[in-house]
Amino acid sequence: MAEHVLHFHASRPPSRLQAIGLFLRRQRGPIVALQWLIVAVYAVLVVIPAFLPLPPEQAHLWDNLRLFAQFCFWGLWWPGVMIATVALGRVWCGLFCPEGFISERVSAYGRGKALPRWLKWAGWPFVAFVCTTVYGQLVSVYEYPQAALLVLGGSTVAAVVIGLLYGREKRIWCRYLCPASGVFAVLAKIAPLHYKVDRAAWDRYAGDFEPVNCAPLVDVRRMTSAGECHSCGRCAGQRDAVALAWRSPFGEVLDPDNEARTADATTLLFGVLGVATAAFQWTVSPWLLHIKLALAEWLVEHDHFALLSDDVPWWLLTHYPEANDLFTWLDGGLILAYLLLGGGLLGGLLLIGPRLAAAATRSPFHTWQRYALALAPLAAASVILGLSMLTVTHLKAEGFWLGWLPYCRAALLAAGGLGAAALALRVVARAQVGPGRKALAGLAMLWPVGLMCTIWSLVFFVW
Ligand code: SF4
Repeated sequence: MAEHVLHFHASRPPSRLQAIGLFLRRQRGPIVALQWLIVAVYAVLVVIPAFLPLPPEQAHLWDNLRLFAQFCFWGLWWPGVMIATVALGRVWCGLFCPEGFISERVSAYGRGKALPRWLKWAGWPFVAFVCTTVYGQLVSVYEYPQAALLVLGGSTVAAVVIGLLYGREKRIWCRYLCPASGVFAVLAKIAPLHYKVDRAAWDRYAGDFEPVNCAPLVDVRRMTSAGECHSCGRCAGQRDAVALAWRSPFGEVLDPDNEARTADATTLLFGVLGVATAAFQWTVSPWLLHIKLALAEWLVEHDHFALLSDDVPWWLLTHYPEANDLFTWLDGGLILAYLLLGGGLLGGLLLIGPRLAAAATRSPFHTWQRYALALAPLAAASVILGLSMLTVTHLKAEGFWLGWLPYCRAALLAAGGLGAAALALRVVARAQVGPGRKALAGLAMLWPVGLMCTIWSLVFFVW
């Protein structure tokens, strides 16, 4: 590749950050080698533990592969990926994800079919996220490697099939169907790092250049959002117009050129803050326990025992007699209802804030979707708090001292809540309406922030 493609103007040496982007572009070989290595480690950790017996009582995560894999996937990887996405953009997707990598590789040899319309529906990431979250809870994906193999392995197989069918050296799976892509897209919107495109410089450029293969199909020239960009670095330096750069974490949501899409807003409110929050807390919810006991009592009194049966296959509901962990049909139905109805109700209650704020400050910029996206800092804090509960469970089991934990949790929740409130107020401040309406919009946006902080405080400090 011509050197000039990879450098900014010779008179202006690239900054350290720009140099990192250019370095990533040059180092495709080592990055691909690293991705193959991750594929191998992922395959070992997802497949082998599913065929191992339950860990003995005295087992530790450093001497038992089942526990080690469980900790790697759910204690480190899952919360770590969320933290990385908020901090650096979707680097996990672009540089490390084995699923996206395999899907892209196999698509080079697949049928390369054009994308059908149904596949491009913007709602798939939300639907896939909700379905995966709910199903994962029903089969206890965080506890049992068989369930992890089914969920993660199933997702990988689907990614391969999509890669074999559609696109050519592209990541159709990641762009349109991956269950995590909706969440990643929301979190990346507030990442302080992004690939910045100078549109004027792009259009001005008259030299030679090689076309970029943007695997997740981003229109690089028009890119204004980090939501779909996988931060792979392949376009760094392209036409002297693309550079890895810092930005304000609020910049994208406040940018009028950036459309606040309904799909992203729905994923944030009903997926990340709604269903996911319900999934994180159903196991400690006294409300669910009371409902379950009352229903079970009623069923026994009325001789309805079918719903109390636990004779259910493990791939439908958690069923591990050796661990004395058996879900009844009643358990399954209640978890399903708690996640879908409870999560939906929570999402609906949160939506009141953005709707009211948008009604008070109505303009093409001040949509409910934009106000919903202003809650992204809170969504990030919420999902990191929820996923790190698994990390905490593992560390507790290993006897680590966690006296600092309540302070960290409170600080993260406060940072998310304050960040969301500050961003929402910045959106309000741009409205061309009187102070009364602005005050109303600001107050309306404090409602979802207060509600989420209350819910997490219940989970961590009251229940
Ligand atoms: S726009 Fe595409 S090619 Fe450029 S960094 Fe993002 S994912 Fe990679």
